[in-house]
Amino acid sequence: MAYDPNNIFARILRGEIPNSTVYEDAHVLAFKDIRPQAKVHVLVIPKGAYVSAQDFGARASEAEIAAMARAISKIAQDMDIAESGYRLIANTGGHGHQEVPHYHVHILGGQPLGRMLSLP
Ligand code: AMP
Repeated sequence: MAYDPNNIFARILRGEIPNSTVYEDAHVLAFKDIRPQAKVHVLVIPKGAYVSAQDFGARASEAEIAAMARAISKIAQDMDIAESGYRLIANTGGHGHQEVPHYHVHILGGQPLGRMLSLP
């Protein structure tokens, strides 16, 4: 799947749409999800143009991959959920119900999250 430069997260990265930033570095931007599904709900995205986790894992540089992992740990610490625990979700492609075609990791926490998954 080709990257769509007009997807909503690309527009956020270009500053065309406002966001509630919680973390930023050379490779990563993280902001609050507009429709939070837990007390803490942050989206962590690479600044590079990657469609999905599949695309990111295949094409991203070591520095970009490391930056995502480091950012997630730092954000969890900063949001005070590192000790209580949290869940990372990267919805990918059709069966993964990915809505925005720019790779993103959801950080969910701040409350008990229940079991991992309930299928329809
Ligand atoms: P996914 O199904 O994993 O692609 O999830 C996309 C997420 O992006 C959803 O949780 C949306 O609430 C969130 N979202 C969509 N537009 C925005 C926006 N402008 N700012 C913050 N979060 C957004």
